[in-house]
Amino acid sequence: MYTYDYLIIGTGLYGATFAHFATKEGKKCLIIDKRNHKGGNIFCKNIEGINVHKYGAHIFHTNDQRIWNFVNSFSSFNRYTNSPLAISKGKLYNLPFNMNTFHQLWGVITPQEAIEKLMSQTSDYEHIKTPKNLEEQALKLVGKDVYETLIKEYTEKQWGKKGSELPAFIIKRLPIRYTYDNNYFSDKYQGIPNEGYNQIINKLLKGIEVQLNTDYFKNIDHFSNNCAKIVFTGAIDEYFNYKFGKLEYRSLVFENKLLEQENFQGNAVVNYIDKVIPYTRIIEHKHFEFGTQKQSVITYEYPTEWSEGKEPYYPVNDTKNTSIYKKYETLAHNEVNTIFGGRLAEYKYYDMHQVIASAFNTLKNHFHKDFLKDYENYSSNSNIQ
Ligand code: FAD
Ligand code: UDP
Repeated sequence: MYTYDYLIIGTGLYGATFAHFATKEGKKCLIIDKRNHKGGNIFCKNIEGINVHKYGAHIFHTNDQRIWNFVNSFSSFNRYTNSPLAISKGKLYNLPFNMNTFHQLWGVITPQEAIEKLMSQTSDYEHIKTPKNLEEQALKLVGKDVYETLIKEYTEKQWGKKGSELPAFIIKRLPIRYTYDNNYFSDKYQGIPNEGYNQIINKLLKGIEVQLNTDYFKNIDHFSNNCAKIVFTGAIDEYFNYKFGKLEYRSLVFENKLLEQENFQGNAVVNYIDKVIPYTRIIEHKHFEFGTQKQSVITYEYPTEWSEGKEPYYPVNDTKNTSIYKKYETLAHNEVNTIFGGRLAEYKYYDMHQVIASAFNTLKNHFHKDFLKDYENYSSNSNIQ
């Protein structure tokens, strides 16, 4: 007899969501994490009353009413709207690419002027029917000036690769608008949890046994003997002992500074495009919550090469890695007692809402019950946690 029905490896959003609903279904769960805290990459550290996003800025956004209701059942959200700024060659631009950006670049004022300018910039790339890489996609969408001023160097710095070596879909994360709207996301719902991301994880995991500082790979036999099924949210290539070779990831180094100053940069996110500057962004955390503290905490985000032992923050979904991943995916399908889920185990450039959607999808297949349906008619007075 097993002590636990499920061992869940990883206390991030995927693992915590799965553990929560499996427990509600009467299953006994143990959830572990090799880090010394819960929450995976959405973990925040409170410094001088400011929620510091320890693993980079996390802004929740979704178009799915039920996912929005789901997260709101654990914490109310403020209406923070992400509007990053970008500094390129000493000049400040608004993001995403919108009328403000076009005005700053070309002095155009009306949408018609911007469309005409953009068409003149993209006409050379009209022949590209299906862009093969990020560079082709960007040139086709926004043309040479935007690419060279706001994309090329940032992208090379972020990924350590040329735009021509990266998948096209990455640049499609950013909207293009002919309105003066600096909202980085086009989703209907967006915000930062008023009670903090940690609260959401704590509530999801209420009453569930958690073991921190525990690496699954250091004690596989012990866990196999005690747990009937496994939910794995770590790196899929590591799970299979790199049998088909290592997948590529991009890592980051975060450098935090506590400042005796109320307002450092006047905005939560400022991107630094130029390659000579080693970091891609500076985050000023208090602005996510409209903080009024006397001090401020800022974080410099430095992209770095990934190697074993470093945190694998981003999958690199190019052709080479996709074909390696497909092999691991086939192995994963045959691993009947293990579920693979989340950004690392599915090797997908997921945002938070997509991780939740994936967990709900698995839960539905597993328990033959659509848990997300419960959140169709949720209101803040409902009590369905
Ligand atoms: P994770 O949060 O990575 O959790 C996996 C956990 O598994 C980790 O805690 C890890 O320690 C643990 N683990 C791994 N291997 C083992 C092992 N062998 N033994 C024990 N434990 C193990 N999304 C948005 O929606 N909005 C944003 O603004 C946003 N910004 C981001 C900024 C950055 C810099 C990054 C890197 C990501 C961002 N994301 C954002 C994406 C978001 O972080 C992820 O979609 C989400 O947190 C992934 O959840 P997860 O549970 O799949 O994985
Ligand atoms: N990007 C860019 N310039 C910017 C911001 C983003 O060229 O100022 C490109 C870059 O290739 C980046 C991608 O758009 O990797 C996606 O950006 P996003 O902000 O979604 O990345 P994340 O927050 O996931 O790091």
